[in-house]
Amino acid sequence: MRAGVILVAAGTGTRMGRPKQFLPLLGRPVVEWSLETFLDVPEVAEIALVLAGESMKTHGKRLASERVRIVEGGATRMDSVRAGLACLSADIDVVAVHDGARPLVTREVIASCLAEAQESGAVVPAVPVKDTLKKVTSKQLWVAETPMRSQFWLAQTPQCYRREVLEDALARFQKDKAATDESQLVERAGHKVKIVQSTYENIKITTPEDLAVADALMVRRAAGGPRETRTGFGFDIHRLVADRELWLAGVKLKHDKGLLGHSDGDVVLHAACDAALGAAGLGEIGMMFPPDDPKIKGIASKEIVAKTVEKLEERKAVLLHLDLTLVAEEPKLRPHYDKLKGSVAELFKLENGRVSFKAKSHEKLGEIGRGEAIACYAVATVSMA
Ligand code: MG
Repeated sequence: MRAGVILVAAGTGTRMGRPKQFLPLLGRPVVEWSLETFLDVPEVAEIALVLAGESMKTHGKRLASERVRIVEGGATRMDSVRAGLACLSADIDVVAVHDGARPLVTREVIASCLAEAQESGAVVPAVPVKDTLKKVTSKQLWVAETPMRSQFWLAQTPQCYRREVLEDALARFQKDKAATDESQLVERAGHKVKIVQSTYENIKITTPEDLAVADALMVRRAAGGPRETRTGFGFDIHRLVADRELWLAGVKLKHDKGLLGHSDGDVVLHAACDAALGAAGLGEIGMMFPPDDPKIKGIASKEIVAKTVEKLEERKAVLLHLDLTLVAEEPKLRPHYDKLKGSVAELFKLENGRVSFKAKSHEKLGEIGRGEAIACYAVATVSMA
């Protein structure tokens, strides 16, 4: 089998105010979670990521790769699927169509749908309806009927098809603007469609509460089981000297002095890393980057953060929040709060709202008060099993 995926992420997000497939979920755009999961499935040879024109500009370049082609979407979902299908290589024989707003799909669901599609031609992953269904016929919401629940399943994606089955259905119903999934066209074209049992976790993010549910499920999954919340504390201080660049929170600031250190002396990132490592019980940055190691001379502290993030990921520790308090007499940092906070968030792969940054003076007391040093305190919260 050579499977191709059409990952549809061209919606404009009318129900959420902005495109839901790009809302942040644990610090990453929603669509990137399922993109990564598909890339992890060995049968998947190619992915056509279908984006709206605007998102192509903002995300296209970053998400394109050897196996991921970026395609511009159409006016309707089916037009977007057609555009995706048209760009898959000729030797792709099974095609999966997936909603960009379903970040929690698993490799297992994808693999079983692909295998079943190769066998039976057309597959819809679905789950049994849990609530009792009521059919209403009037705007006044009078119940007309209670259908037998066991007959109904909720359709999800990735819907998977042998290529010729999907091509046939899409070609026959060119004028259908209302279809909400491909399967209904495939059914109408006379092909049999098979249900594969999926998981209730494979939700579609449609309204704001879905994002909260997805967030909770994602944290639980990342932690690898029942989890707990832990807190870590970090501290760092560096001398402020002439003729050095001043780096704070990964941002180079204009100042006549900078922080002395083997690295760039970025006290904010050092304290933040120590807090995060401390919360996860992973030691401190000195253990990863010994100060006497000649290799660390002059390294950017961003590299220390990248290593810290990697260690947290290995331990399946999900960083939830960083609270940073810088103590400095100069320079004045309030005008830079947004930039510094945004930089920390980006480096630690967190949403902006999960970082707090503030600066205090030291009331002219001691070394910090005399402008001879800058210090930073950090508190990190992580969720882990
Ligand atoms: Mg340091």
